[in-house]
Amino acid sequence: MRTFTGGISLSPPLKMLKEKLMIEQDEILTFSPTMVFIPLAQHIGAPVEPIVSVGDYVKQGQVIAESDAFVSAKIHASVSGKIVDMVDWPNQNNEEGKTIIIENDYAYQNDFLSAPFDWQSAANETILNKIRQGGVAGKGGATFPTHVKFSIDETKKIHTLILNGSECEPFLRSDAFLMQKEAQKIIHGAKIAQKLLDGPKIIIGIEDDKPRAISAMQAASAEDDTIEVVTVPTVYPTGGEKQLVELLTDQEVPLGGLTADIGIVLINVATSFAIGEAVCYDKPLIERYTTVTGDVQNPCIVKNPLGTLAGELIDFAGGFQGAPSKLILGGPMMGKSVKTLKVPVTKGSNGIVVFNEETDWLYAENPCIRCNKCVEACPMRLMPMEIDQFYRAGDYQKCEELLAEACINCGACTFVCPAKRSLAANITAAKGKVAQLQKEAKESA
Ligand code: SF4
Ligand code: SF4
Repeated sequence: MRTFTGGISLSPPLKMLKEKLMIEQDEILTFSPTMVFIPLAQHIGAPVEPIVSVGDYVKQGQVIAESDAFVSAKIHASVSGKIVDMVDWPNQNNEEGKTIIIENDYAYQNDFLSAPFDWQSAANETILNKIRQGGVAGKGGATFPTHVKFSIDETKKIHTLILNGSECEPFLRSDAFLMQKEAQKIIHGAKIAQKLLDGPKIIIGIEDDKPRAISAMQAASAEDDTIEVVTVPTVYPTGGEKQLVELLTDQEVPLGGLTADIGIVLINVATSFAIGEAVCYDKPLIERYTTVTGDVQNPCIVKNPLGTLAGELIDFAGGFQGAPSKLILGGPMMGKSVKTLKVPVTKGSNGIVVFNEETDWLYAENPCIRCNKCVEACPMRLMPMEIDQFYRAGDYQKCEELLAEACINCGACTFVCPAKRSLAANITAAKGKVAQLQKEAKESA
């Protein structure tokens, strides 16, 4: 089996925790709240503006906010019902942002197609427009608008489409469950993407700790010799874009470049599923599978409309186990620690992890002991402890010299650090400072 530079296997206490929290679920559990809280900021690109008013009735899947800009993603009502308010509401960045609140009438009024659209005979422009209308954005966390990702410069020949089925965050199983339950629809989305890219081969990379997902995807693609399902090692961050490309193709994405520069497009399996739904059934991106795990009574994977509050999903999972100490939206490696249960699930959220006072010790910070483990773990060959040190000292010039901008925010350095230094968070902040320095230098040139 191929591998990539750096990366980590879990330390014994976390490995035990992961094994304890391994969710093996067969049944699709669904939860639909009485109110959904839909933030307008859910994607990378131009901000959207509301096109509805308080008091309006909206159908499930109706556009409620949009922008004329090409690099943007429309926002839709995830349930049918009445718009009861537009307010500033807590988001996953521990800030407040404009949010549309809809009272769910549980009537599920919508205009989705009942028979699939014939995309095989449709023009690529029509298909791309359907993806754009569906507000599809990368569901692996990046939330980059998908119609933009597929509008590739014609001079770039794409030879490989990679489907990322390597969830890689230690406790999350949302993508694995989706592959287990919706393999055929994921393949459908991949075939649509293949048409848009002029027929590249498709490689689906799945970690070896997800055997049921591997079998389901193999069965769904067995008749198609343009698709290969490849098992990759469960070494964090196998699911990082650059790492998965290296593992599956032996090619390296250039620093500051895109995968398309080397003839590759990579999308998450959940994004592929969303492409299929938007193109075949005019069903926009309005729901997702969310892993609710950690110190909750019944860790599980829940299908829920976007805009469901984290606290309601924790209640659905039976509530807290022990005194809650930390709430993370996303996984323990790259997720964001949030301060309130009122944060809603959005297009890019794949999990909710709770730590109580007993498990939170895994995250307490101590002085650096110069052990070098963060350097060994970094898949981008950076010097995390050095960048962290210069960031703390406010020397952003040095952070730039140490290539902080190449960090992919994977969190591997933080995870292996025996002193539990906040390396990834500080290096992400250092990246922002370096970008600001570079912008100022350009402006004064
Ligand atoms: S978060 Fe950045 S610095 Fe830390 S291991 Fe990942 S890429 Fe390296
Ligand atoms: S892993 Fe932690 S303790 Fe070890 S060198 Fe890096 S920052 Fe220091």
